[in-house]
Amino acid sequence: MSRTDIHERVQAHAEERAAQGRQRRRRIVTRRDGVQLEVDGRWLAGFCSNDYLGLALQFEVAAALQDAAAREGAGSTASHLVCGHHTLHEQLEREVAEWLEVPRALLFGSGFAANLAVQQALLTEEEDVCVQDRLNHASLIDATRLAGCRLRRYPHVDAEGALRQLRSATGGAAMLATDGVFSMDGDIAPLRALAQVARSEQALLYVDDAHGIGVVGAQGRGSVAEAGLGVEDVPLQLVTLGKALGGYGALVAGDAELVEHLAGNARPYIYTTALPPAQAAAALAAVKLARRDDWRRERLYELVALFRTSAGRLGLELMPSNTPIQPVLCGSEAVASAMSAALEQAGFLVGAIRPPTVPEGQSRLRVTFSTLHTPQQVQALVVAIADAREQVARGA
Ligand SMILES: *Cc1c(COP(=O)(O)O)cnc(C)c1O
Repeated sequence: MSRTDIHERVQAHAEERAAQGRQRRRRIVTRRDGVQLEVDGRWLAGFCSNDYLGLALQFEVAAALQDAAAREGAGSTASHLVCGHHTLHEQLEREVAEWLEVPRALLFGSGFAANLAVQQALLTEEEDVCVQDRLNHASLIDATRLAGCRLRRYPHVDAEGALRQLRSATGGAAMLATDGVFSMDGDIAPLRALAQVARSEQALLYVDDAHGIGVVGAQGRGSVAEAGLGVEDVPLQLVTLGKALGGYGALVAGDAELVEHLAGNARPYIYTTALPPAQAAAALAAVKLARRDDWRRERLYELVALFRTSAGRLGLELMPSNTPIQPVLCGSEAVASAMSAALEQAGFLVGAIRPPTVPEGQSRLRVTFSTLHTPQQVQALVVAIADAREQVARGA
């Protein structure tokens, strides 16, 4: 009997990664102070977190977590359908539904789990199809694999491509799934056009707004509301708590009947421990601040505008993004990695994003902004990126 040895497979994979210079290393953060991170004993200015509104360390958010933990403890003790569903979870679901002006919202342990849940619970037949933007988040792609139905992808932000894919995949039920704000590019999906396509093809439009919620639109209600779409157009959307809301967890918000179906049937909802109630309390506080504090978004967009004009002046290659995700294109993986390392030397932590996360030849620095950055820090970063580019070009 011939059998593949898993250890050997893992070893071969590690060697291949090393040969390509694609090893991934975790950095250990020992302390945080606003956007500053202490990494390997050095304080760096971070331009890589998803804490767009600066809520992760915000006093009221952390205090809500502490207070709830003092009363309710560290964990929820069970899944939602057994006895883990706490009034704080319920309050958070109501608050988010009210914020987004949708009938219902359901809390999940993470955005990844929520995406798996939506497709597995709704695309139950092999003949079903999920049509997706080529640059959608990995969890949306894996969700289709788990659902076991057909997956069709269309060119990035190409609504006509989506239409063609839906037309060519007849029979069964159809879902059209897209990121609202694209996580590695920062651009926004053409939601109005996609809604029209979904309507004409009787597909359910699902928007993963992990990076749009809190950041885009009036009151931070996200890219669906900003596009002027309601629950008739987008029956379900994903709201994550780990990005602009500074915490952990996620909600699927939208149509009451569909959300109810998820609560009763989605395996990634049923067979997992409910989020700690204290975490829900923190999210509740964060949602209230995200709704109320327009100044956080205003400041954030001022920083984004400052970055784009300053970077443009120094000839950095930006992408068409108006969100706090501002990639700087580097081309090769080697250049992206070397620039990231040079930036770290200069006191800035900026992630290099390389294949397979982005296509070959499109390696980039993924620069992200937070309300807590200062204009001085942004300007210093632009200069440091231009210097890093020169250093790397000189082969220094
Ligand atoms: C981060 C992210 C997720 C996963 O959310 P988690 O709560 O971190 O698991 C899903 N979709 C997109 C687009 C994301 O950026």
